[in-house]
Amino acid sequence: MDISHILNHLGENREEYYGAVAPPIFQTSNFAFRTVAEMREKLTKELENPFYTRGYNPTVATLRKKVAALEGAEDALVFSSGSAAVAAAVMSVVKAGDHVVCVKKPYSWTNNLIAKYLAKYGVTYAFVDGGEAQNFEKAILENTRLIYLESPNSLTFEMQDIGAIAKIAKNKGITTIIDNSYNSPLNQNPIKMGVDIVVHSGTKYISGHSDVVCGVVCSTHERIMKMFAEEYMTIGSIISPQDAALILRGLRTLELRVNRSADSAKKVAEFAEKHPKIKAVYYPFSTSNPQLALAQKQMKQGGGLLSIVLDVKDEKQVERFCDSLNYFLMATSWGGYESLVFPLCALAASKSFENPLPWNMVRLYIGLEDPEVLIADLQQALEKM
Ligand SMILES: *Cc1c(COP(=O)(O)O)cnc(C)c1O
Repeated sequence: MDISHILNHLGENREEYYGAVAPPIFQTSNFAFRTVAEMREKLTKELENPFYTRGYNPTVATLRKKVAALEGAEDALVFSSGSAAVAAAVMSVVKAGDHVVCVKKPYSWTNNLIAKYLAKYGVTYAFVDGGEAQNFEKAILENTRLIYLESPNSLTFEMQDIGAIAKIAKNKGITTIIDNSYNSPLNQNPIKMGVDIVVHSGTKYISGHSDVVCGVVCSTHERIMKMFAEEYMTIGSIISPQDAALILRGLRTLELRVNRSADSAKKVAEFAEKHPKIKAVYYPFSTSNPQLALAQKQMKQGGGLLSIVLDVKDEKQVERFCDSLNYFLMATSWGGYESLVFPLCALAASKSFENPLPWNMVRLYIGLEDPEVLIADLQQALEKM
């Protein structure tokens, strides 16, 4: 479907709302009926009908339609955070005693869910190097129910061959989930490559203004119906109609924002690759990336995130670099309008990770500012370092 149509019109029943151009915010918890027959009818299909806002709200429903269409999925659910979306998706697939094969180094709270939380239910797991599709095949056991991917991940941007892994999983009747947050729904669509469930932290590009926390799950109508009746309604981690309206507003400019952020990040990556005080640059589309061909095969372009490794002797220099930046806000998260710097040495656990990331690594998120201004800012901070 045409992206402009999705972002500007799909799911907006304007004739039902006095022709309102901006979607109304249905700030109501409850919906009333005139007859028992009407109430009974609405209650039989709570996923599609206003009955109670934990299940269905028209403002949230407009958002569900748009994100599903953007991912090329039949249906979608919106959650109160990306982590809630990941947890609901995973829990909809596994039961006690099942086994999960997960790409190593997924998002921290995904890691926590799979490696710690699900142990309560006797779910076991294997983390595998995602560089070779065969690694997933080798890790599959009799009771493997789920293969979980994140391509690229959001710190070092390792990719997995999505189509090849989805094929392996399909052959064995194993469900696949991918965290597609890095790409937004515009730069990579895993459902077309055979993946069953796509999740996003909508906090990032989808809402895009650093004012909402939300998550998205996209899949077939059948899977979404099941997830609705089980995890979604039971755990109830829904977003408010107000937040849904903010995300709908954010989506109007999704294409403009994602393209600007990607174009500028590419420029920053090129600058960083040439700078003598930067030892390494991690960026999916960087010419030095050994996985460049895979990036070109399955992604339209890079995103706004990249990591750099500074050529320094001690942590103080990393601090001096970060503290000297004038245009980059120092913060976690990403996907908003504002550029960000995230030094790994700020993590208390940075030195006790099982698979430690370099203490002199700094993640940059490139927002919507003038890229030349951002590059000049990096240049002066590298000089002060
Ligand atoms: C931020 C993030 C999440 C978690 O999303 P929240 O909205 O913060 O709960 C999950 N996966 C990735 C890749 C992320 O960047």
